Amino acid sequence: MDMPAAPSIVLGYPEAAALVQSHIGSHASTPRPVESVPLQEASGRVLATPVTADRDQPPFPRSTRDGFACRAAELRAGSLQIAGLLRAGQPWSGGGLPAGRAIEIMTGAAVPPGADCVVMLEHVAVSQDQVSLAQGKTISSGENIVPAGSEASTGDVVIPSGVRLGPSHIAAAAACGNSTLQVFSRPRVAILATGDELVEPSVTPLPHQIRNSNSFSLAAQVAAAGGAPEILPVVPDDPALTQDAITRASQSDLILLTGGVSMGKFDFVEQALLALGAEFFFTGVRIQPGKPTVFGKLPGPFFFGLPGNPISTMVTCALFAAPLLRAIGGEADAAPCFCQASLAEEVAVQPGLTRFLPACLEPGFTGTRIRRIPWQGSGDLAAAARANAFLVVPESADRLAPGEIVSALLL
Ligand code: AMP
Ligand code: MG
Repeated sequence: MDMPAAPSIVLGYPEAAALVQSHIGSHASTPRPVESVPLQEASGRVLATPVTADRDQPPFPRSTRDGFACRAAELRAGSLQIAGLLRAGQPWSGGGLPAGRAIEIMTGAAVPPGADCVVMLEHVAVSQDQVSLAQGKTISSGENIVPAGSEASTGDVVIPSGVRLGPSHIAAAAACGNSTLQVFSRPRVAILATGDELVEPSVTPLPHQIRNSNSFSLAAQVAAAGGAPEILPVVPDDPALTQDAITRASQSDLILLTGGVSMGKFDFVEQALLALGAEFFFTGVRIQPGKPTVFGKLPGPFFFGLPGNPISTMVTCALFAAPLLRAIGGEADAAPCFCQASLAEEVAVQPGLTRFLPACLEPGFTGTRIRRIPWQGSGDLAAAARANAFLVVPESADRLAPGEIVSALLL
């Protein structure tokens, strides 16, 4: 008996990307569990509770130079008597700066009241206890002082929730007095590779077998997108076993399946999802690699059925699954990462598909160039290993000229 078939919904890349974004939007209000992590373990996590300034930043007018704190107009008019020395971490107890005086000051020290500038050491002449501007130098009010509270005022949000934390956020959080941070728990992502031909990487394959690489590239991409990957056992090409495996994976926040989504006689993934009550948002995208990509939702989690060819799996995960995963993980801005570069050599293709071709970005001081890597198609992992990006050829283009500014997908 023929099994019911999933609907056929084939979209162009922009429409498919927009559809994923619309589900990201509707998912945004779903609450996510929160946990507390030490600051040193917070890099790469998504902030759940905003970090606010616990005091003005800087907390005092900060000198940004080693030099002399004084009144600019007085120093421009003549020499000033040096009335003391202020180092970083030292409170100033001398009251306001008397007229006609300068105070030697170090970077990071609090500028005493009354001083309106810090003249850098390299711009003055010092003789005995007098300081004056060096030949050809000048100074204006405000120079080399960061006013108190100019970076942030007490209570200001310094890092909003939904931000993926990087080194600058960790530093800002530390500066605001946090030794732990509230972050969203990592979404659990079930990874299910399907295919009778697959064996684990540790196994010596028989001549007709292939090592399962997709589960591992996906786990790496999931981890990079803030998820907790769980690699489940490889599923044979069998409808009932595929259904069982998906049922077991349904406790996760997201299911990533690979293989079994094409038109072959032994591709059972869509059929198994349908039998489990899946709603399908698309079942194909006009892209290369990755045309048979499937996106939908089970009664529980979202799922992607990614094509089994290893580069197809990688590219479609980066284009569609990683942004959704980042949103599920609480990230406020979850979109694929593209950059622009200048094309090193002509690219000619058949129009009709948006292409993501393995390529090498060559960053340079005056700009980044991108060059295609020759490949044997979407199974060519050796080519992918020589690439560091995927050159985007829009659906309507049949030729990109050397020097043209093109987009590249970053994994
Ligand atoms: P499929 O999408 O199942 O038709 O598979 C397409 C191609 O990808 C076939 O050549 C498979 O052997 C290969 N393939 C499928 N799954 C994997 C995997 N997990 N790791 C490596 N190659 C795979
Ligand atoms: Mg297969």
